Amino acid sequence: QCRPMDVPSNSRLLMLLGQLERMSRESMMTEAEIARQLTAKILHLIQTQDLQTTLNILYILSELLTVGGGRRVAVFVSKGGPAILLKLLISASKESPPSEELMLQLHSLLAKVGPKDRKFGVKARLTGALNVTVNLLKQNLLNSKLVLPCLQVLRVYSSNSVNAISLGKSGAVELMFKIVGPHTKKNTTLLKVALDTLGALLKSKTNARRAVDRGHVPLLLFAYQDWHRNDTRQRHMLIRKGLLASLRNITNIKCGRTAFIEADGMRVLYNTSNECLPVRTLDPLVNTSSLIMRKCFPKNRLPLPTIKSAFHYPLPHVPAGGPVAQIYSQMPGVDDVVDDSDEETEADMENDTENEEDEKDCRNDDIETDLSKLRPREIHSRPFEELRVYDKFFLELSEDFQVSGVPYGRTRVDEPPVNSTRHIHSPLLVGGIAAARRGGGGGSSAGGSDCGSEGPEEEGPLLEVPDTALLLPLHDPDLYVEMVKGTASVPRYSEVAYPDYFGHVAPTFREPLLERAYGVQRAKIFQDIERLIHPNDILDKVVYDLDIPSGPVIADDGESLKFNSQFESGNLRKAIHVRQHEYDLVLNSDINSNHYHQWFYFEVSGMRVGTDYRFNIINCEKSNSQFNYGMQVLMYSVQEAIGGKPRWVRTGEDICYYKNHFSRSSIATGGQKGKSYYTMTFTMNFSHKDDVCYFAYHYPYTYSTLKMHLSKLEDLRSPQIYWRQDVLCETLAGNSCPLLTITAMPEATTNDHLCPFKNRPVIFLSARVHPGETNASWVMKGTLEFLMGSSQLAHSLREAYIFKIVPMLNPDGVINGNHRCSLSGEDLNRQWQNPSHELHPTIYHTKSLLQYLAHIQRAPLVFCDYHGHSRKKNVFMYGCSVKETVWQSNISTSSCDLHEDLGYRTLPKILSQMASAFSMGSCSFVVERSKESTARVVVWREIGVQRSYTMESTLCGCDQGKYKGLQIGTRELEEMGAQFCLALLRLKRLTSPLGLRTQQHFLDVESDLMETRAKVTSPTTYVMEEDEPSFQEEVDYSADSNDDDPDPDVEASNEPEDAALHLDTLSDCETANHKK
Ligand SMILES: [Zn+2]
Repeated sequence: QCRPMDVPSNSRLLMLLGQLERMSRESMMTEAEIARQLTAKILHLIQTQDLQTTLNILYILSELLTVGGGRRVAVFVSKGGPAILLKLLISASKESPPSEELMLQLHSLLAKVGPKDRKFGVKARLTGALNVTVNLLKQNLLNSKLVLPCLQVLRVYSSNSVNAISLGKSGAVELMFKIVGPHTKKNTTLLKVALDTLGALLKSKTNARRAVDRGHVPLLLFAYQDWHRNDTRQRHMLIRKGLLASLRNITNIKCGRTAFIEADGMRVLYNTSNECLPVRTLDPLVNTSSLIMRKCFPKNRLPLPTIKSAFHYPLPHVPAGGPVAQIYSQMPGVDDVVDDSDEETEADMENDTENEEDEKDCRNDDIETDLSKLRPREIHSRPFEELRVYDKFFLELSEDFQVSGVPYGRTRVDEPPVNSTRHIHSPLLVGGIAAARRGGGGGSSAGGSDCGSEGPEEEGPLLEVPDTALLLPLHDPDLYVEMVKGTASVPRYSEVAYPDYFGHVAPTFREPLLERAYGVQRAKIFQDIERLIHPNDILDKVVYDLDIPSGPVIADDGESLKFNSQFESGNLRKAIHVRQHEYDLVLNSDINSNHYHQWFYFEVSGMRVGTDYRFNIINCEKSNSQFNYGMQVLMYSVQEAIGGKPRWVRTGEDICYYKNHFSRSSIATGGQKGKSYYTMTFTMNFSHKDDVCYFAYHYPYTYSTLKMHLSKLEDLRSPQIYWRQDVLCETLAGNSCPLLTITAMPEATTNDHLCPFKNRPVIFLSARVHPGETNASWVMKGTLEFLMGSSQLAHSLREAYIFKIVPMLNPDGVINGNHRCSLSGEDLNRQWQNPSHELHPTIYHTKSLLQYLAHIQRAPLVFCDYHGHSRKKNVFMYGCSVKETVWQSNISTSSCDLHEDLGYRTLPKILSQMASAFSMGSCSFVVERSKESTARVVVWREIGVQRSYTMESTLCGCDQGKYKGLQIGTRELEEMGAQFCLALLRLKRLTSPLGLRTQQHFLDVESDLMETRAKVTSPTTYVMEEDEPSFQEEVDYSADSNDDDPDPDVEASNEPEDAALHLDTLSDCETANHKK
């Protein structure tokens, strides 16, 4: 309806527009530059016209911008079009009354171009356009033609958080509530836009509070219910989702959550969700509802008197300012007060959303950039005289072997088995510690080495079991019991867990990764919410409790399962019978600490057959777990063992791991407030009546097991094997820390034989500094068994090297069921820079051995500390490389034209070629600041060992190679330990002058390096979520994710927005304190 224009400039304008049109149509934008110039001219012209001309230009502009697939809009925006339109809007608004038609046109255009302009929100605010639109809306709420474009513009405005506050003050929230309401068939588009706007406005806490104060929460709930009931053909998902989004944002603040609870929101969302469940397309609604309910679920503290470990161990001295001093200097009861300070203190610290772009990738923060720290250097801070005392651990270097007739190996009396079964008592008790199943709460004194030796208690029924001593080369139940007697635990355990006694015969069947059923996590969360909805189902009966003097086992009518974990490496603190077939379990903190729970090992009995029992470990701490990616728990059934299958099996259904409603005290999180614990849940259907079953995080491997294995390994000695077992030192609790020396005996005692013998390179291995990483011990067992083997390869290996091995760096932690620490309440793998003689004896002396070797110019060829990894699959290594660290950091490359021997890559490379569980792609050679006091980094930097590694084995399974899709078992772990030995043998060939040191090999390493350089290998500190493929159901673990909604203009499609909805989990600052 353009009128012919009569002003000369208008004809010029028309000409220009025509030219632009033509060009856009014909020239495929090759003449984009000319197009830009034209646009600029057009814009200039618009500003100088009278009303009607302006309108005409706007009509043309509108038509022009409607076609062209967005490219024209982009050009228009890039030339400052939106700003000009906003200015026009302001000047037009000053007319009284303003031209309705002009307002309509301007808003229509702004609605079109605004979403494409990143600075639109700021521009609108600075020009003063926000109020123009709001006032226009207020005056024209019934003018259906004008309302829609105004709302659309408002929606763009409000996506800017500063604008949202300003708009709220101008009454925009109230305005939206005038439009939003119960089900209607009219104006659904309008409603949808209003809801989007409202959702954006309510992200501002001030606005959310305003909505709560005006009583809008019940209104939103009512509207949601109404739409739910009437939208039976699911045509208005976006409106229902919009209502939920508003509720979600309101419940980010405490008073919003309170209002939600008071309005019976839990029940409303619970019921509507249940009705939505059968329709898969409604999942986004169920998921958002679930999110809101979880957020509003009253926060509880753990049902414990204190989060400090149930056991305390008095240290020889408590370093001021250390973790133990901090814990025990607190007033009683302060330690886990759930902080009530709501995020309402927040102040709407609104940055422009436009500026939030630059906080992208801060993953590299932890990389060491101090070049002086990256240059390995030997630190001879200790006089050699001080190290002389370690001579005794290196006898092989001075021995002359003149005295022959040293009894090599015990005479092996291979007595034929008399019986293939043996008889044992139940429960298994050792050492004459009379009271069975003692209370544990008060256990506080130093370890009990006062065990007598009267043998098993004469009590309980007699069981006939297969004799695993005949099945397992290194196992002997009687010997195990003997070893337990010499093991000192802080709680003075007197029981022996059956699995450790019987031993584990690895099953021969495959144990595939558990496929996760769709909706498991959601179903579990709904069951949790039912605790509030159906309070009558709650039993809340404590059945096991380390914190009560009469406990831990609590007498019971036989209706509940029985729990126990008073044995080596056990760590159950409390079990609560919550509902009929459901138990909440609380793990004990590491001794002298108030956190670190992940490892578990406990016994269950009194089960019924054919019943699904749900177990929830409710105080896990890591933000994600392989339990979400196919890992199952381990179970050992005594009935199965008696039936001839003594073994741990992967089991449990409906396994998942998610953030729960138990608050973590900021005291245990390093000051971070508002953190929650995580639940690891699994369901178990037992197959034997009257069974005694054990559950563990991973295959247990106790300190007593190690001692038994070492004793049996010693029996394998032959005259060709040099084997020595020394006591490196005693631990805090008085347990000895074994040190092994293994090599081949010299063939003769003449100098020409002794000299090469003494000059064999040293390989230094250690394991199990982290007690919860039992897999490390199984890998070590594989290494040791190979080393003591009779094969030619084993012999060659012994001839090639002298092995120094500390198989368990943290016996006390292992014995007492710790997950991470030693009795000092500290992570021993963070003490290598400055280990304390008193508090970290095993580390202190191990480091001294290495210093000794460095001093005598015999620094190890390879150092490797075996670990387990809880969040990744496969086996891999971390090493240290200056170059690779520099590449990953922002240090300018000119500052470090380093020459680095690539030898550190050889061993992992060999492993990746020979061990199918090993993944080169997961290896990293970056030196991180946070790891500067780990064994790997200190041995590299201070001892000067170029090949200094951590070898990480998965707790879960493999996603590559021969074992792809399978969970890892002891067989594979032991195999890994043996393959490590074979790799050392190949390393020998490659490093010895006579070996196959070909060009080709180095080319391989080079090309390998180039690959790594191209793709950023993840530094060890970070486990990115992309490590795992996503499954259909979004995992709600991303506790730390930001509350970022997608662009407001992405509206038509559900999916991107849905994803964001799920990810946006419980805000971290919510800490409503509703005590039980
Ligand atoms: Zn570790």
